[in-house]
Amino acid sequence: MLADNFSDNDAWRLTAYKELVSLVNSLFSNFLGDYCCNCQSVIGRLPEAENEAFELLEGVYPGCCHRGAGDIFRLEGESSERASLAPGIVVALQNERRQKMQLSGTGGGTYSFRRHRDGALVKGAHCCYFAEQGCLLGNLKGPLCINFICPPMRSDLLVVCAGDDCLVGPEHDFMFIYRSLAIISYDCRDEVEREILLFRRKLQALEDKCRAFLIERQAQSLYSLYN
Ligand code: SF4
Ligand code: SF4
Repeated sequence: MLADNFSDNDAWRLTAYKELVSLVNSLFSNFLGDYCCNCQSVIGRLPEAENEAFELLEGVYPGCCHRGAGDIFRLEGESSERASLAPGIVVALQNERRQKMQLSGTGGGTYSFRRHRDGALVKGAHCCYFAEQGCLLGNLKGPLCINFICPPMRSDLLVVCAGDDCLVGPEHDFMFIYRSLAIISYDCRDEVEREILLFRRKLQALEDKCRAFLIERQAQSLYSLYN
């Protein structure tokens, strides 16, 4: 059921938004998901990891899914009038999330770890959509959930792309997703359809490169090659 003030304009924009999230989700489930399932070992590759080593005491390591992360709708780097996902999309998205959570149950929870360097006990809370089996939202994730890839994951993808970063994009703007989300939020329908098509082609190109790279090395996954 749609929110009372849900307009046709919001409906097709939300559909485009969900399509883009689904495309990113499929890339992750085909090629990158095992990084996030083994996040602790992935971040162990960061130069600062030695200094930040810790022992998990309680709960599940949150990876990128900290409390509040799923509800951040900023579009970093876009002009001030396009610096956030369109309010109509946000309202519709939150409405669909509420319905989904009513069916799937709640996420959230807490974790704690002991930092080796100073013995500090660090406590934290997961995003409210985070569950043991992963994110509960599917194609209703927020912008921050699809636009970030950590440095180890990005550097592996750059190897796949032979150092050409025009597909992968920056660490905090994976595949230049903020620009796509700004177009989905504010541009006309033709422009949005063009952008989705373009994004689909870019994603296909990245998937093709990942697939060819793995076949050439007879490897099951990027994660298994580099971690
Ligand atoms: S993107 Fe990197 S840091 Fe974030 S959850 Fe995945 S592996 Fe962990
Ligand atoms: S919405 Fe999902 S992907 Fe995004 S931070 Fe929450 S659990 Fe993680």
